[in-house]
Amino acid sequence: MSQSIQDFGIEKSLSNLGISAENKGVSSGGKYFANGDLLESYSPTDGKLIGKVTTANTADYDQVIETAKKAYVEFRQIPAPKRGELVRQFGLKLREYKDDLGKLVSYEMGKSFQEGLGEVQEMIDICDYAVGLSRQLHGYTMHSERPGHRMYEQYHPLGIIGIISAFNFPVAVWSWNTALAWICGNVTIWKPSEKAPLCGIACQNIITEVLKENNLPEGISTMIVGDHVIGDKMVNDKNVALISFTGSTKVGRIVGTNVAQRFGKSILELGGNNAIIFTENADLNMSIIGAVFGAVGTAGQRCTSTRRLIIHESIFEDVKNRLVKAYGQIKIGNPLDENNHVGPLIDQQAVQQYLDSIEKCKKEGGKFVVEGGVLEGENYESGCYVKPCIAEVENSYEIVQHETFAPILYIMKYKTLDEAIAMQNDVPQGLSSAIMTTDMRQAELFLSQNGSDCGIANVNIGTSGAEIGGAFGGEKETGGGRESGSDVWKYYMRRQTNTINYTDSLPLAQGIKFDL
Ligand code: NAD
Repeated sequence: MSQSIQDFGIEKSLSNLGISAENKGVSSGGKYFANGDLLESYSPTDGKLIGKVTTANTADYDQVIETAKKAYVEFRQIPAPKRGELVRQFGLKLREYKDDLGKLVSYEMGKSFQEGLGEVQEMIDICDYAVGLSRQLHGYTMHSERPGHRMYEQYHPLGIIGIISAFNFPVAVWSWNTALAWICGNVTIWKPSEKAPLCGIACQNIITEVLKENNLPEGISTMIVGDHVIGDKMVNDKNVALISFTGSTKVGRIVGTNVAQRFGKSILELGGNNAIIFTENADLNMSIIGAVFGAVGTAGQRCTSTRRLIIHESIFEDVKNRLVKAYGQIKIGNPLDENNHVGPLIDQQAVQQYLDSIEKCKKEGGKFVVEGGVLEGENYESGCYVKPCIAEVENSYEIVQHETFAPILYIMKYKTLDEAIAMQNDVPQGLSSAIMTTDMRQAELFLSQNGSDCGIANVNIGTSGAEIGGAFGGEKETGGGRESGSDVWKYYMRRQTNTINYTDSLPLAQGIKFDL
């Protein structure tokens, strides 16, 4: 029996979040406007139109930049702990809207409601983190080699931070960037993914409320809905000091090159090809849960999704059989219904890429132990629901080296741990990795300089999901960027070294004499 969206209260949530049937996709200085093409946002859940958005044209973009520039001059003068107060209030507002926003994320993007709520929780967590950080933007002091001199480092804001985000984390990635950028004294311009524009508008409505209540310039947070044309304008605009880009390696390569060309700064958070090594000493009960959740959660559309399992030959058949059994229990359907484990892919194009990858894998010799396919009929009208599948492969297959954003899990055998680590590292991407073992020596080897080459390396935890307290990001074709916790805030500031002479003479550094 199919359930209508009313049963899940989505219409009420849309209304609470200020989403209408027709929306303007530019928000700048408290005004909503837009003069570009019309974009329609369809839910991959039921294929229905959720709302229309007028996107930005290039003149709209110029207006946004001017508003942001003005807001920056005012905002950078507000003390950091007071900027933290803005973020604290934003975190409180997010708590109020958690349910509605989590639901919209689920409905517009297709991840499960629980994962939608989890995404909003990440936003709340980064706000809490940033509030404390707003009193800790420390620089070093150092001893000068010259008498009567003092030296120290301080951090200043950068200016305008441009955030270009991917569809699969349609709200959290924005907040990871903004919470830090704001406490550091920057203003932000966000181009959400054109595949989840309503999530962008909902977030912008929430922060606009906070800015209004505090009588702060609304240009502190601006948003501009558009496609690659607007994205490209941001990337090439000298007014934008830092581009934080989350998306595919293909687009990231263009973005990184163009920003570097103008000596701008960038944070690149690109594709992953994440593996878990199952050693002969793995606790299989927990390992299987970690692997299955990592592979099928968000229908395989997380940058940290588990794409490869590298399994010790002695347990290969056992693990394979357990996986087949576990996959047999997976429920696929409306992600707002908490009985389902897996929702739809984002759109038909993603479905086609999934099918093409399966074909390619078969051509290269892949043996499917759990078959894939597109689900049809009642409850699957959007045409975006696919079956999570598993293929036995070689790591060297071209398709295995490539990130397919879908629930396809590749399994392969190894003999020695060195060989397994080499396989784990032998892909172009370097985001997340994990080892399942109860042997301390194996775990430590995996974490050592001879181990995983990824930005994230876990022991007895899957590859997907990360806490905001750590720096998040990856190496190689994942782009090298870091977001979120640790000392990542430094990316959003410029470092200045100051030397002060409090004597009445002018000694030069390195003992150089220059007498007149
Ligand atoms: P995508 O690269 O297609 O699009 C990402 C964003 O880039 C969108 O907002 C898009 O409009 C914009 N864009 C497209 N062309 C552009 C251009 N020439 N200049 C500037 N902007 C442009 O990615 P997607 O399909 O939305 O997301 C999936 C990808 O994102 C996957 O590869 C996934 O691994 C990656 N991702 C990475 C992380 C991470 O933290 N490493 C997190 C989430 C997603």
